[in-house]
Amino acid sequence: VLEIRDLHKSYGDLDVIKGVSITAHRGDVVSLIGSSGSGKSTLLRCCNLLEDSQNGEILFQGEPISWAGSGPNRRPGDAKQVIRVRTNLSMVFQQFNLWQHMTILQNVMEAPITVLGRDKGEVEEKARHYLNQVGIGDKGNMYPAQLSGGQQQRAAIARALCMEPEALLFDEPTSALDPELEQEVIKVIKDLAKEGRTMIIVTHDMDMAADVSTQVVFLHQGLVEEQGSPDQVFANTQSERLKGFLKSTR
Ligand code: ATP
Ligand code: MG
Repeated sequence: VLEIRDLHKSYGDLDVIKGVSITAHRGDVVSLIGSSGSGKSTLLRCCNLLEDSQNGEILFQGEPISWAGSGPNRRPGDAKQVIRVRTNLSMVFQQFNLWQHMTILQNVMEAPITVLGRDKGEVEEKARHYLNQVGIGDKGNMYPAQLSGGQQQRAAIARALCMEPEALLFDEPTSALDPELEQEVIKVIKDLAKEGRTMIIVTHDMDMAADVSTQVVFLHQGLVEEQGSPDQVFANTQSERLKGFLKSTR
């Protein structure tokens, strides 16, 4: 689905991603772990072209992103391709980012109607289906502020699913939540993994990463320091830095 080859990204003089390669095949769950500032969020945002990158390739469904300009001036060159990538890699944010003035159902229905031009009746049916799937089928008529954090995050996941994307991108989906509420969101993510959904998940939750991932990638200062199956990475850790990081998360 998604392949990143030797990606480089900097903010001015600050090199944040220094040559990262990651491949997510259909059905893969890739967890990105690493300490604060290692570049996890930036890498995720580069994947769906929310951020520009200066060097390296991004392939979506085998097709390379075409670029206009190069180096610091490099931008995606094909607007249609950008829309295709963004709508097919749905992002779930740490802070949910629901529209406060819309009901939960309206939140879930908005993008498929306005961005994809889908039929309203059809979208409503799907929206109700996904709200049920994440366990808040009874909350459609409520506003975000009337829901708990865990329910809001599950609404945000339903909203991402309603785009029927190729893959879901999560940036610390549970870190704004109280521990009890975290578990309801983790359960939804585990169920999605069982369904065979392709996902890339930035997380501080090593238990979840060990549980759902097909591949774990440890980033350190903008480089992949270690990557492999959860067994390799967690039970047979090679890098001293990763050993230290894992200790610090316990
Ligand atoms: P955390 O675990 O705290 O979320 P992270 O691994 O997601 O960290 P990033 O947010 O990707 O880290 O940040 C990587 C580096 O890039 C940091 O040094 C950060 O200060 C810098 N950075 C991120 N966004 C910007 C920006 N918009 N402008 C300038 N520097 C930025
Ligand atoms: Mg981050």
